Amino acid sequence: MKININQQLTDELEQNAELLNKTVTKTLTAAIRQQYKQLMWQKLCEQEPKLKALQGEILSVKDEGKSFCANDLWQGGYTREGPIFRIEGFRSKLDDLVGWSRKDHPVLGTHEAYRVAHQVLFLDSLPDCRECRCLVIDGFLEASR
Ligand SMILES: [Zn+2]
Repeated sequence: MKININQQLTDELEQNAELLNKTVTKTLTAAIRQQYKQLMWQKLCEQEPKLKALQGEILSVKDEGKSFCANDLWQGGYTREGPIFRIEGFRSKLDDLVGWSRKDHPVLGTHEAYRVAHQVLFLDSLPDCRECRCLVIDGFLEASR
């Protein structure tokens, strides 16, 4: 009996240790990724100061009004109200600064530079979609799964 209890305790401890290990690893990985992204972004801005200016422009966008669509602002498109004209998306501004358009630059021309800049500018700096078409489409896709 004593052996069984000890075995049970040992098993539980091992399971807990495993769980703790997984949690710590996950947290550490997230922290390292975050730090890497910050450092990489800093490096990119040193190489291309217009990136910092673009981030400032994106950060000044406010989610106000009846709805907000991050994708519309990112991709660009046509105005929905008032006179119709094309709005340049933030994406095309980013495309001019990193990635393919800068393929001769050793840092700015890399896929990794584009990945990090996209993450910082689109995912971290622009407010999330709210009450927009994307969410309706997402809802349909979710319901059809
Ligand atoms: Zn949207």
